[in-house]
Amino acid sequence: MDLSHILNHLGEDRENYKFAVSPPIFQTSNFTFRDIEHMRRSLEDELNNPFYSRGCNPTVAILRKKIAALEKAEDALVLASGSAAVSTAVISQVKSGDHIICVDKPYSWTNKLLVNLLNRFNVAYTFVDGTSMEAIKAAKQENTSLLYLESPNSLTFELQDLKACAKFAKANDLVTIIDNSYCSPYFQNPIEFGIDIVVHSATKFIAGHSDLVAGVICGSKEKIREIFQGEYMTLGGIISAHDAALMIRSLRTLPLRMERIAHSTELVVKAISHHNKIAKLHYPFQPNNDQYDLARSQMTGAPGLFSLEIEASSISQVEAFCHRLKTFLPACSWGGHESLIFPMCVLHNSQNYGSGTLPWNFIRFYVGLEEAQILIDDLVSSLDQLS
Ligand SMILES: *Cc1c(COP(=O)(O)O)cnc(C)c1O
Repeated sequence: MDLSHILNHLGEDRENYKFAVSPPIFQTSNFTFRDIEHMRRSLEDELNNPFYSRGCNPTVAILRKKIAALEKAEDALVLASGSAAVSTAVISQVKSGDHIICVDKPYSWTNKLLVNLLNRFNVAYTFVDGTSMEAIKAAKQENTSLLYLESPNSLTFELQDLKACAKFAKANDLVTIIDNSYCSPYFQNPIEFGIDIVVHSATKFIAGHSDLVAGVICGSKEKIREIFQGEYMTLGGIISAHDAALMIRSLRTLPLRMERIAHSTELVVKAISHHNKIAKLHYPFQPNNDQYDLARSQMTGAPGLFSLEIEASSISQVEAFCHRLKTFLPACSWGGHESLIFPMCVLHNSQNYGSGTLPWNFIRFYVGLEEAQILIDDLVSSLDQLS
């Protein structure tokens, strides 16, 4: 399906709302019915008929169609956060006694889902080096039911071979879930490689304006219906109609934002890659990356994020480097219009996150919509001043 059609028109039944260009925000918890038969028929398919807004809200329904089409999935659900999407999807695919294979260093709250929450319900897990198909295969146990992927991850950008993972999972009756937040549906569609369920933190690129928190789950009609009737309705982590309308607004410019951000990121990375104050550069499309060929074969772009290990001899030098930056703001998250840094030394002695496994001179960068040259000048100037 034509991308511009998906983003500008798909799912929008304008005759139904006075030909308004932007769909109305159905700010209602409840729906009423002509008669009891109408009520009964609506309840037969609560996924697709407005009955109560925890189930189907018409504004959210438009967004679901667009998200599914973007990910080349049959259907999709939209939730209150990326973590709601991850946890709802994972919980839907396991039961007590099962085992999950998960890639090393997944997103921090995905890690906590497995280690702190599901473990209490007798679901075991093994973290594996996802860059090695052998390691993934070796981790399989009798009771493994789920293979959880994140490709690339959003700090160090390790990839998994999605086609090989899907093949292995199908042969062994495992369900595959991937967190595809880094690429966004614009630059990678894992379902094309045979992955079963795709989740996103839509807070990042899909919403893209740093003004809302949301998540999505994409998959086959059958899988989405099962998740809807089970975990989605039960756990109830839904998005509001208002935030859904903002996301529809965001999707209009998804290609513009993604192209600009990916292009600027390549310019920034290229400009600094030989700087003598950089000990290590992490970026999927860096030619000396061990997984460069795989990255090029699975992803059509590498937008926004890259990481640096800088030549600094103390945390205070790292902090001074960060403070010199004028355009890159210190913050978590990414995917919005504003460029950001997340320095790992912020986790030093953190109660919630431990001290982390990454070195204290490691800084994750996010390139937003500012002029690339301004970002380059800012970064180079602060690198130059590292003594
Ligand atoms: C941010 C993020 C999440 C969690 O999403 P929220 O919208 O913050 O709940 C999950 N996975 C990745 C890779 C993320 O970057």
